[in-house]
Amino acid sequence: MSYDYLIVGAGLFGAVCAQRLTEAGKKCLVVDRRKHIAGNCYSEIVEGVEVHKYGPHVFHTNDEGVWQYLNRFTAFNNFRLGTIANYKGEMYSLPFNMYTFNKMWGVTSPKEAAAVIESQRQAAHIGEPRNLAEQAISLVGSDIFERLIKGYTEKQWGRPCEELPAFIIRRLPVRFTYDNNYFNARYQGIPVEGYTKLAERLLAGSEVRLETDYLQNREELNKAAERIVYTGPIDEYFGYAYGHLGYRLVKFATEILDEPNFQGNAVVNYTAKEVPFTRIIEHKWFKFGLDNEGKELPKTVVSREYSVEWQPGDEPYYPVNDEANSALYRRYKEAADKEEKVLFGGRLAEYKYYDMDQVVASALAARL
Ligand code: UDP
Repeated sequence: MSYDYLIVGAGLFGAVCAQRLTEAGKKCLVVDRRKHIAGNCYSEIVEGVEVHKYGPHVFHTNDEGVWQYLNRFTAFNNFRLGTIANYKGEMYSLPFNMYTFNKMWGVTSPKEAAAVIESQRQAAHIGEPRNLAEQAISLVGSDIFERLIKGYTEKQWGRPCEELPAFIIRRLPVRFTYDNNYFNARYQGIPVEGYTKLAERLLAGSEVRLETDYLQNREELNKAAERIVYTGPIDEYFGYAYGHLGYRLVKFATEILDEPNFQGNAVVNYTAKEVPFTRIIEHKWFKFGLDNEGKELPKTVVSREYSVEWQPGDEPYYPVNDEANSALYRRYKEAADKEEKVLFGGRLAEYKYYDMDQVVASALAARL
């Protein structure tokens, strides 16, 4: 055996494990079947703009330990995400806050806004929310549900809101203040030199082999190390023995535009069902319109994001944590617990809708 650890996947979970192990004097081999490191936070520079290839990633955390740890490898630019929803040409602030309520109902005080929401909640006869639709109406009322949530959510998840878990909508804050910040997190921002650089620094000291598929070369790679950290899809690891777990996949149509400012914001969500994409990302605004040297950029790069059902062979993005998939995952988890040599971690191996900071926290806590 030439390595202490084989790490399957060079995304955040794998990269943080590799860094910890290297620091502890262990020798790691990191393999990834993609052409690049950094998993879904991977970004590349196009016309001076850092383009988030797998969708917008805005780092946010309240976890002091995670923040201190990452700051050893990168500085963050203090960017705060404030999203806008375009519903049939009308622009609403997101997440839901007093600007949203004012635009929707003309109310100006928190008391008035809360009263409208309460009356809509009662009219819809919502008790303890049993699904995303009921949770949404209970939090923000039926007008906002109909215009800003229903269409977007059903496009994103390809299922009716009644069949989705309530927790998904609780990711978004609801505020009775005039505050557009998407996250309630103490620490936020984009790595100043990009996510790929961050991953590169975490992986420094490990041997990295790209375009190397662990599952296709399992026998040989298993011989390389005593212990394995596996961050790929858990169902694929077991040859889909119990069936496929469901994922949502996002696809992007990206174009370079010969103009400096297309939509005036990093993210604009299109919440009407009729618009085929979910959102448009204008990447330069994650870095205040500047390149890595601080120069203004004459062009802009925009991506329209389409959400589609995952098919075998596609890149999996979002785990679909409905009941059937959660039950299936538990069967795989039982099998995984019996694999003594292998630690399963990260979004795909734990089949979990993780934010980046949660992935880092779990990699820092993992008993390697
Ligand atoms: N959501 C919505 N309307 C929006 C934005 C989000 O209804 O304009 C809902 C949708 O169900 C989504 C959830 O809120 O799945 C969580 O959104 P978030 O921005 O956290 O999703 P992510 O950034 O992970 O894609």
